Amino acid sequence: MSSHVIPAPEVPVIPTSDGGAFPVRRVYCIGRNFAAHAVEMGHDPNREPPFFFQKNPNNLDASGEFPYPPHSSDVHHEVELLVGLKSGGTNIPVEKALDHVWGYGVSLDMTRRDLQGEAKKMGRPWEIGKAFERSGPVGPMHPVSEVGHPDHGRIALKVNGDVRQEGDLNQMIWKVPEMISYLSDYFELQAGDVIMAGTPAGVNAIERGDEMVATIAGVGTLKVTVV
Ligand code: MN
Repeated sequence: MSSHVIPAPEVPVIPTSDGGAFPVRRVYCIGRNFAAHAVEMGHDPNREPPFFFQKNPNNLDASGEFPYPPHSSDVHHEVELLVGLKSGGTNIPVEKALDHVWGYGVSLDMTRRDLQGEAKKMGRPWEIGKAFERSGPVGPMHPVSEVGHPDHGRIALKVNGDVRQEGDLNQMIWKVPEMISYLSDYFELQAGDVIMAGTPAGVNAIERGDEMVATIAGVGTLKVTVV
């Protein structure tokens, strides 16, 4: 086998609550998965087919700091359940989907809303608004043996102590097994793929110096400082 002609990029990892590291292969993010958030973004909350976009694996960041990104003056927080797969495949039935989950975590889908809005208006892809450096702050991944398969419970985000986002996992339009099954019809899922499962209402702008505290009942808490 030939040797690499440039240094091989490192495989990004998310620390796990049991002291390990979860290597990340792909990052799928669902759009508008809470009705109240669909409404606040100007869309009909009726159950239409789900849609996904992607972040890059190396956009995930467990440092606890979020550097305010360039070329935006309207950067929003989106608190989301993070789902990590230990296996995958294609055409996975809904009732078998949870067998592929390694664990869960708390994550933020940070968004340059102004750039995303321009892209939407022009019918362009969303990466410039969604897949920038360190745009995915994450807490530790917790194994299913520790947290089970959370399908209800409070999901919330405070900024400087004030509640900004609040909802319940049971309000997700597309449930975790349905998202896995749907994605596996279009892509081959594999171990290391993660899904950011959508955000409740209350998305809003952050500023340098803000302290974001994201919590998902039964999963954990993620504290991130905007620097
Ligand atoms: Mn999101």
